[in-house]
Amino acid sequence: MSRVFNFSAGPSMLPESVLQQAQAEMLDWQGSGMSVMEMSHRGAEFMSIAEQMKQDLIELMAIPANYKVLFLQGGATGQFSFIPQNILRGKTKACYVNTGAWSSKAIQDAGAYCDVIVSASSEDSKFTTIPNIADWAIDQDAAYLHYTSNETIHGVEFSEIPDSQGLPLVSDMSSNILSRPLDVSRYGIIYAGSQKNMGPAGVTVVIVRDDLIGNVAKGLPDAFNYAVQAKNDSMLNTPASYSWYLVGLVLQWLKQQGGVAAIEQHNIAKAARLYAAIDKSALYSNPVEVAYRSRMNVPFVLSDANLDKAFLAGAEKAGLTSLKGHRSVGGMRASIYNAMPDAAITALIDYMAEFERTH
Ligand SMILES: *Cc1c(COP(=O)(O)O)cnc(C)c1O
Repeated sequence: MSRVFNFSAGPSMLPESVLQQAQAEMLDWQGSGMSVMEMSHRGAEFMSIAEQMKQDLIELMAIPANYKVLFLQGGATGQFSFIPQNILRGKTKACYVNTGAWSSKAIQDAGAYCDVIVSASSEDSKFTTIPNIADWAIDQDAAYLHYTSNETIHGVEFSEIPDSQGLPLVSDMSSNILSRPLDVSRYGIIYAGSQKNMGPAGVTVVIVRDDLIGNVAKGLPDAFNYAVQAKNDSMLNTPASYSWYLVGLVLQWLKQQGGVAAIEQHNIAKAARLYAAIDKSALYSNPVEVAYRSRMNVPFVLSDANLDKAFLAGAEKAGLTSLKGHRSVGGMRASIYNAMPDAAITALIDYMAEFERTH
C-alpha cells in the first residue's frame, strides 16, 4: 500500500491513525458485534458515540453554554438558504461581506429570502484582499452580518474577528474551523461542512446562539429548523451516523495533538514554509495580500501557464495529488488542513524547487 499526499480542497486528507482505527473497528465496534454503519441511531452504542463527539467539539472550541451545537445534513451550501430562513426573525434585510467565491454564493442564495446588503466587497481586487473592516457599511436594521472566515478558492483568510457593530455575526468556517483558537461568544452562528477540517463529507456543524432560534420563516422544513433539531439532539431524522463517528475520531485525534492552540502553531509553521518557498522563487507567485493569506489553502500560479500541465504531471508522479487550482482561478492550489503532515509540505517544496531548476 502506498498513500499519496493529497492536497485536495475537500474532501481532503484525514489523519492516518483515524483511518486505521476506523478500519480496526469496521466489522465490530468495541465488542458490539456490529459496524457503526449498521447501528440504530437510537441505540445506546451510537448515542454514546454521538454524545462523545458533541462534548469533544464543545471542549475543543470552548463553546459557551448558551449555544446549541447541531449536526445537520445539506452541507454548508444548504446553510446559505437555511440561515436566513432561521434567523431573519421577521426582519427583511441582512448584511453580507463579499470576499470570494463562497461568500458570493452565500449572497446569491440569501437573496431569495431577504434584501441582501453587501457591506463590503473585494471583487475589484479579484478577491486578493479583505476590505478594511472599519469601512464596512453595516445597516443596524439588518438581522445579521455574514462573512466567510476563509475563502477556500481564493486563499484569503480573516486574521481577526470583525466588529459587527451589535448585529449577530454569522460565519462560514467550512475551511478553517478548528484550525486556530476562536472566541465563539463573538458569534451568532458558526457553520461548517465536515469534509475539510473535521472528517469525511456528510456532517454540517451549526453552532448557534440560543436566543436567535425558534422564530423561523414559514415553510422551513423541520429538518433544517435549528430549534426543532436542537430539541431533538440533531436526530429529528436519521443522521449521517457513520460520518458522525468519523468526525468523532478526528476530534479525538485533535485533542491528542494538544487541541486547537497546538494545531494552530503547526498550521502557522506549515503555511509559512510554503509561502516562503513561493515568495523566494522566480517561477511561482501567490497574488494574495500578505496579511490575508490563508493558512489552509495556498493558491499559486506559475509565471508561464504553459508549464502547468508538466508541473501537475510531475507532481502526480511524486505522489503529490490534487494540486490543480479551482477552475475559476486557474494555476495551482495546495490545501493544507490540520491533518496534512509536515512531510507533505517538505515533499511539495522539494518538488517545486526541482521543477523550477529543470524548467
Ligand atoms: C467547501 C465549502 C463550502 C461548500 O460546502 P458543501 O458542504 O459542499 O456545501 C462552503 N463554504 C466554504 C467556505 C467552503 O470551503
